[in-house]
Amino acid sequence: MAESLQVVCPHCHVTNRVPRERLAEGGACGKCKRPLFTAHPIELDGANFVRHVGASDIALLVDFWAPWCAPCRMMAPHFDKAAAQLEPGMRLAKVNTEAEPDIAARYGIRSIPTLVMFRRGSEIARQSGAMDGPALVRWARSQA
Ligand SMILES: [Zn+2]
Repeated sequence: MAESLQVVCPHCHVTNRVPRERLAEGGACGKCKRPLFTAHPIELDGANFVRHVGASDIALLVDFWAPWCAPCRMMAPHFDKAAAQLEPGMRLAKVNTEAEPDIAARYGIRSIPTLVMFRRGSEIARQSGAMDGPALVRWARSQA
């Protein structure tokens, strides 16, 4: 029997089951019919964060950032491009710590930017400080 993975839709946040061998094709959400992968990070907030962290079988890489943080703004285009390279084995997401201080507090984010990688609800890796594109992709692949 084919193993299936839980993939949370980036648009409507419903959990989809995708056979592992079909993951590379991307595919569309069973509910909203939009693509499950968009080659861009998704914005997470208090309403959808728990679902993406907890219900996803693929690693979730979260960029904790803030609009006033210059290194965060510097890393943003690199993080955006990295999504195209790291999907669909990994989902990239962003949390604006100014808009969502509760999420930042829950995970003890003390400096930004901080990247935190989650798998099935657990933190598996963390890295503080801005990285360029190649370093970011290399680090992410080494941790997932
Ligand atoms: Zn959907």
